[in-house]
Amino acid sequence: MWKLKIVLPVLAALVIFLFAQVYLVRQVWMQKDEVFSLRYRSESKEAIREMAIYDPYNGFKKAYWVIDDVSSLYLQKSKNLRSSEDSALFAREIRESYTSILSEDQLLTEHLSKYFEKLGLESKIKSKIYVNYIDLIDIQENISVFRVSDEMLRKQSSQKSIPVYTFTSEGNNYKISFDYYIDVANKEAIMMKELSLTLIFSFISFVIILVIFIGTLKNFMEEKRLSNLKTDFINNMTHELKTPLSTITVAAKTLRHESVIHDRKKIMDTSNMISKQSVQLNELINLILEISMWERTQFQLDRKNTDIATVLREISDNFRNGCGNQCNYTERIEIKGAMAEIDILYFTTMINNLLNNALKYSGEDPEVTLHAYTRDKNIVIKVKDNGIGISRSDQKNIFDKFYRVSTGNIHKAKGLGLGLYYVKKIAEEHGGFIDVSSRKGKGSVFIVNIPLNI
Ligand code: ADP
Repeated sequence: MWKLKIVLPVLAALVIFLFAQVYLVRQVWMQKDEVFSLRYRSESKEAIREMAIYDPYNGFKKAYWVIDDVSSLYLQKSKNLRSSEDSALFAREIRESYTSILSEDQLLTEHLSKYFEKLGLESKIKSKIYVNYIDLIDIQENISVFRVSDEMLRKQSSQKSIPVYTFTSEGNNYKISFDYYIDVANKEAIMMKELSLTLIFSFISFVIILVIFIGTLKNFMEEKRLSNLKTDFINNMTHELKTPLSTITVAAKTLRHESVIHDRKKIMDTSNMISKQSVQLNELINLILEISMWERTQFQLDRKNTDIATVLREISDNFRNGCGNQCNYTERIEIKGAMAEIDILYFTTMINNLLNNALKYSGEDPEVTLHAYTRDKNIVIKVKDNGIGISRSDQKNIFDKFYRVSTGNIHKAKGLGLGLYYVKKIAEEHGGFIDVSSRKGKGSVFIVNIPLNI
């Protein structure tokens, strides 16, 4: 739940940032588009001005001539129009015909293309003509007989095309006004090229922000996890300390009881119990002190070249005796004569922790195996059990300080979540490492690797 509380605002912030980036890039794109159009428009105008010096018709001479010719025919036709529908159809016909004449019989587009090429601009262009109005004129009476107006044409303008110039022309039989547009090929690609730097910067800044966000989030989660672990640890420790303490308190009360004062055997039993619980208390406190010492100083190993088989056999014997009938214990020590530089005390603690856990986290009929062998200049020690097993997600954390697999509030097996942390540290201090292979409900194998002394 707390994870969601942190992740959601961060995600929201990221989405807002992403939208802001998209908005900014869009704005820049629109500005570039405007600048692009403006450039081609002003250069086109300059080219038209230049062309007008030697061609007052701007390359439309042939088109105007054809239109004049065609207009006299249309003029005749216009006199026979009966209804407004006829007029509308007629207007459309004229417009289409004039538009295609103006588009095809002209030299302006070619001139512009050459002009752009000279300037190093994109020379692949297409032109578009949009007629504003057409007047068919009766030359004898000098009046406009038919007008194809703006409204009749429902002028279409293109958003993509660049408006360049509005031309007007007058002949014997007609008057026309039309807009000349150009489309630059590869416009998007050209703009994209110009925009690439902005896009790259925008992308990089997004990635940086993303990395910072994720890093901060991870740190925060780790802090929170550690803080949760510490709370669990305090709860466990209180529980661990309380059990021997309450036994001692009850025992002290028992000793004061009238019926016990004269019973020597009961006094001895109770006093033994107090000593046992005191030893357990002491061990617990020592363990905590030792761990906190490790945190402050690098702990020093007193390493000696040791015959590992001998040490393992001693650990094994003690474990078997301690375990008694409680478990089925097997050992396979196949490392005769293998030597390694170890601190016997820490090494013993490490293997003992693994053996004790194997027993502690077992089911009905515990089966514990210790198997030692050598491989690739290493001594491999496997401690296997048929116990409760560890899920994959917990396997990642069990070597962390204070980590205990969650079993709700009730912990059947007592512990502080320090044993495996201790084991990992000792293995690493010996130049080795520890690994675990386990499946929930199917038992576990802890594998310690320690380098051989060859
Ligand atoms: P503790 O035993 O004090 O809880 P450890 O560091 O020794 O702490 O172990 C951490 C956790 O790993 C334990 O709480 C337990 O859930 C799990 N664990 C350790 N050894 C075994 C094992 N052999 N089988 C199943 N679970 C284990």
